[in-house]
Amino acid sequence: MSSTITVRVPAKVNVQLAVGGRRADGFHGLASVFFAVGLYDEVTVTPADRLTVSVAGPDAAAVPADRSNLAARAAVLLGARYGITPQVHLHIDKGIPVAGGMAGGSADAAAALVGCDALWGTGADPAVLAELAAELGSDVPFGLLGGVALGEGRGEVLSPVPTGGSFHWVFAVADGGLSTPAVYGECDRLRDLDGGSADTDLPVPAADPVLLEALRTGDATALGAALSNDLQPAALSLRPALAATLRAGADAGAIGTLVSGSGPTCAFLAKDAASAAALATTLTASGTCRTALPAAGPVPGATVLD
Ligand code: ATP
Repeated sequence: MSSTITVRVPAKVNVQLAVGGRRADGFHGLASVFFAVGLYDEVTVTPADRLTVSVAGPDAAAVPADRSNLAARAAVLLGARYGITPQVHLHIDKGIPVAGGMAGGSADAAAALVGCDALWGTGADPAVLAELAAELGSDVPFGLLGGVALGEGRGEVLSPVPTGGSFHWVFAVADGGLSTPAVYGECDRLRDLDGGSADTDLPVPAADPVLLEALRTGDATALGAALSNDLQPAALSLRPALAATLRAGADAGAIGTLVSGSGPTCAFLAKDAASAAALATTLTASGTCRTALPAAGPVPGATVLD
């Protein structure tokens, strides 16, 4: 058993996010195609007298450094399952934008599950880790899995999606985050205004076969045309400035644009790595975002580093 474990975990973008009606438990039925991209957090787990958390990175001040941190909650949950007192220090090096719609907190929870499992030698079955992950949050199981996967239910019931190669993205990071519950609330409000109801009259969400085929064949142009996010109108309603960011990316040659998850990060698909690098430079200079970061994917989920 090693005395320190570091786990690297990627951000996600939803290449499709189809949002159904509100369910009786308050969640929305989803068809969510998660795609893991090479923007990472690293969570280092070290034995300690008690459970403590520290956070580094440009957005560290926006992340709780106490037991409310999702990574700490993951350590407590895994410990409870195996009768272990979670005496660890969790250090989170955040490269994933905070409250950015890229599931950074969920990623850290997945990393803490994997890191504590390795440190404590619990040897948890992947199915047990997935069950604990789903208890922590709808996006946490995907942090364990990575790659590309269809999430159904409230997003936590995952099936891997085959892909035919790498895709090249740019992520425009905004100043300040958006609250995921607020964006779902705005989505419901806009649907109610539209004359329908946010609870009924909505088709059961399903994965788009055209999008799945584009992923399978590695066809970036077809994927760019098929990107969709039902939360985008709500994110734009709450943060109208994002329209200028999306436009700047399209004008600079992106082959697909969308708001990532609940936003406010915007995602742009490029045709290759060189185009992504050029697009990132143009977007950063456009003044429509804080910074723009190129990242390729799909990449694996939470992984212990040597
Ligand atoms: P999602 O895409 O899953 O909706 P997000 O990327 O929009 O999530 P997160 O970065 O996960 O949002 O953060 C949402 C909130 O969760 C933050 O404002 C923060 O207060 C809280 N939080 C708790 N633990 C963490 C963590 N480890 N990293 C980031 N935020 C955390």
